[in-house]
Amino acid sequence: MSLSELQRLETAHVIGTYVRLPVEIVRGEGPWVWDDRGTRYLDLLCGISVTNLGHCHPAVVAAVRAQAGRLMHVSNLFYTEPAMRLAERLSSSSLGGKVFFCNSGAEANEAALKLARRAKPGGEIVSVTGGFHGRTFGALSATAQEGKQAPFAPLVPGFRAVAPTAEAITAAVGERTAAVLLEPIQGEGGVHVTPPEALAAAREACDRHGAALIFDEVQTGMGRTGALWAYRESGVVPDAMTVAKALGGGLPIGALITGERLEDTLRPGDHGSTFAGGPVVAAAALAAIEVTDDPALMERVRDLGERLRAGLREIPGVAAVRGRGLMIGFDLEHGDAPGLVLRALAEQHLIVNATGPATIRLLPPLTIDDAIVDDALGRIARLVAC
Ligand code: PLP
Repeated sequence: MSLSELQRLETAHVIGTYVRLPVEIVRGEGPWVWDDRGTRYLDLLCGISVTNLGHCHPAVVAAVRAQAGRLMHVSNLFYTEPAMRLAERLSSSSLGGKVFFCNSGAEANEAALKLARRAKPGGEIVSVTGGFHGRTFGALSATAQEGKQAPFAPLVPGFRAVAPTAEAITAAVGERTAAVLLEPIQGEGGVHVTPPEALAAAREACDRHGAALIFDEVQTGMGRTGALWAYRESGVVPDAMTVAKALGGGLPIGALITGERLEDTLRPGDHGSTFAGGPVVAAAALAAIEVTDDPALMERVRDLGERLRAGLREIPGVAAVRGRGLMIGFDLEHGDAPGLVLRALAEQHLIVNATGPATIRLLPPLTIDDAIVDDALGRIARLVAC
């Protein structure tokens, strides 16, 4: 089917919530994807930090194949080994409590918000400006962006957003606060590292007032920043965290992970989801985490991130470079990031993303090497120059 035929079908039959790029992707391998005409693109976006191990990583593909031929679904009325093993793996690699499975980042945050309200009934949720937590009503209520919230008012009551600073968070958190929810590094907001003193202040304020500190690691998790979980590098341990995106190695799965204090807060019947923790996605996630949780790979991610950021700083026309590990954002001196994304695709066969009018975000596979980084830098330099 031609691209124009796909576009005709979309216009006629798909609710228009997405603005798609004019390319049909038919295959992926490692850092590369191919369109229907055989053109190869360098993918520095990973489906927005989903295919962190590259496209079709052999370990993930093998796990999915094996599990899909054995058992695809039974519901959470039964036990399956992949889900129980994955819960053990997630807990032991992070906060040491228990896990609730779901199917996406927004759902993981919904579960976290219910956990917080269950722990402190009627309590307020504090989030920070510039953050992004998803588009379902609870997650959207914590996503303090006028453009995303306003058309859907009224939102869930009991949410407030403050600046991501130590002072603002300390002032906002009190006896009525059930939780503070924030990203260690804001991704959709343009790759802004949350200041360590703001995280420390949030930890202190939550401890003082018996509130839950919840980190949204949907984008920062699964090795993206050069540690399996970004909180590990921040020096602050949250009471709970949410993960999704890269967890399933390319398949949809999310999870809420708690520390011990909150692990038994949600009780039978409090929450659930038909597909959550299904055997195929859980098997995929076990394979993905097995490959990702490797100190040598994490060191490599930190080094590659340094190389990429240093190279970007050398490019005339690049104004500011931010990020950690392979979660990188940079601003263009002369703006028009959306235009650069289109030109990147057409002229350089490069997949990048704009988070604002002047900001480009890079979320490359963690498995790239120096040669790919240098190749990427060359393509970006050529784009920024014109
Ligand atoms: N939280 C963060 C930090 C995200 O970046 C995203 C998506 O970009 C979400 C939550 C929502 O995840 P999903 O699109 O899987 O619902």
